[in-house]
Amino acid sequence: PVLRVAIMGLGGYATRVADAMKDCKKAKLVGVISGTPSKIKDWQGKYNIPEKNCYNYENFDTIKNNKDIDAVYVITPNALHHDNTIRAARAGKHVICEKPMAISAKEGQEMVDACKKANVKLLIGYRMHFEPQTLEVIRMRKDGELGKITFFQGLTGFTINDPNQWRVDKKLAGGGSMMDIGIYSINGARYMVGEEPIWVTAQETKTNPAIFKEGVDETVQFQLGFPSGAVASCLSTYNMNNLDRFFLNGTKGYVEMCPSTNYGPIQGRSHKGPLNQPIVTHQTVQMEEMADIILNGKKPVVPVDGEEGVRDMKIIEAVYAAVKSGQKQKISL
Ligand code: NAD
Repeated sequence: PVLRVAIMGLGGYATRVADAMKDCKKAKLVGVISGTPSKIKDWQGKYNIPEKNCYNYENFDTIKNNKDIDAVYVITPNALHHDNTIRAARAGKHVICEKPMAISAKEGQEMVDACKKANVKLLIGYRMHFEPQTLEVIRMRKDGELGKITFFQGLTGFTINDPNQWRVDKKLAGGGSMMDIGIYSINGARYMVGEEPIWVTAQETKTNPAIFKEGVDETVQFQLGFPSGAVASCLSTYNMNNLDRFFLNGTKGYVEMCPSTNYGPIQGRSHKGPLNQPIVTHQTVQMEEMADIILNGKKPVVPVDGEEGVRDMKIIEAVYAAVKSGQKQKISL
């Protein structure tokens, strides 16, 4: 069987996912949900979507009666994910929801609970969990090729100059760079080190308060501690371009990746040489794998379920609390 997907929110990233899905065999784009009729028309033409699979935010709940759609992929601004996901779950559809899954851990947990109650699966759009260079590093770490892990560095950021976009609107974004791009360093620290952090310290720098208003972080540096004694040092920013680098150090070797989380090609080398895994379109592989997870119960190497999303939300909240208090924050996941 093929996973028949409707995409909700027809913006920039949704277009990238839709184009990538053209090459999928196990997943197929069959429907859309949008508040903009002209976009629906465009997408119908571009992706061959039948009228009966097109919804707006008013009539969306009737998707419940549509037997030709299995899952809704939520690709709207962060603050809308909670409501969008719960509505889709109540309509009996599996949900794939973009990162960050919500704007708080509490909302994230409510989404997990709603999907459980509705007996549908909830997956978060963690495309790096299926990326071949990334999986190779995880394999090397698991096989002991790096020895005992001692240190991770994650640098993730890009520049925002437009004060009007939703990413710098606290109501829609839920925060600033941490929610959007810092989450890659948090999530990366976890899958690279292979442990869950137990404490965090963090510092914020703001150079442009006109764009990055109260509650919208521009640049945050944060440090994580892990049970083994490994530490991580990370930076998340909306004020430095092309910042996209991971470094993992162990007692027997190291890996560096740059770029490490953008759309690729992801490049990396270890103490043994280049990673040299296949170059893929992330979203194509993600949707193939997610179809297998939803339809066949396949277990991914790194989880992409709602609980995984909640763990990242808890860490983001701890980072913000550490910035505010200036104190080390304990993390319990
Ligand atoms: P975007 O601005 O390009 O698209 C957002 C879409 O949501 C637009 O089509 C907009 O019309 C729609 N929308 C629906 N209701 C809205 C409302 N009330 N206010 C504003 N817009 C509304 O943004 P994007 O870059 O596509 O990001 C969307 C989501 O995807 C975000 O959660 C983002 O974090 C995530 N994302 C993930 C990746 C990834 O690599 N996994 C990459 C980019 C974006």
